[in-house]
Amino acid sequence: MARVFVITGPSGVGKGTLIRRLRATHPELRLSVSATTRPMREGEEHGRDYWFLDDEEFARRVDDGDFVEHAEYAGRRYGTLREELDRHLGEGAPVVLEIEVQGAAQIRETMPEAVQVFVVPPSFEVLQQRLEGRGTDGADTIARRLEVSKVELESQHEFDHRIVNDDLERSVAELEAIVEAQLPATNGA
Ligand code: 5GP
Repeated sequence: MARVFVITGPSGVGKGTLIRRLRATHPELRLSVSATTRPMREGEEHGRDYWFLDDEEFARRVDDGDFVEHAEYAGRRYGTLREELDRHLGEGAPVVLEIEVQGAAQIRETMPEAVQVFVVPPSFEVLQQRLEGRGTDGADTIARRLEVSKVELESQHEFDHRIVNDDLERSVAELEAIVEAQLPATNGA
């Protein structure tokens, strides 16, 4: 049984929404809080949305081996802290990682038993509209994220599971089916 679920795919594709919906029906799933060097957005909280670190501290923690994976994404650093993951796993809980594709590739190497799901946008235009519509990033950041997404989309076939997020309800159902097949308590329920 897998205990680590990696949800990846381009920024704006709806990973966060899918994970929120998944956790609403599967509260036993823990979400690992990542570390990042990007600035905090309005409404975000240190320790809830991310551990917001400066460049120096992030680099030090990389050197100390504190990350199970880390990557540079659109000029900022992001990573999964080992202590965060181990704490949840140590409590016997399955864990969801919401990460970009380079990190997902690292997890595939170090934790091949983790289940990996790539969330695909219905089209590039829809991705662009979503990034613009959510209003969390400026025009430069959106342009940069869209550039990165082209590269990310090229790696989608490396993943065990792909969900095309064109219909939220269907996508949630697909994600639930993937996860439920791996959770003993709900398997077959
Ligand atoms: P955002 O800045 O929009 O919160 O995140 C940007 C991208 O970084 C998203 O694709 C998000 O999934 C990814 N990300 C968030 N946390 C991590 C992490 O710990 N590791 C990696 N590799 N990517 C992450």
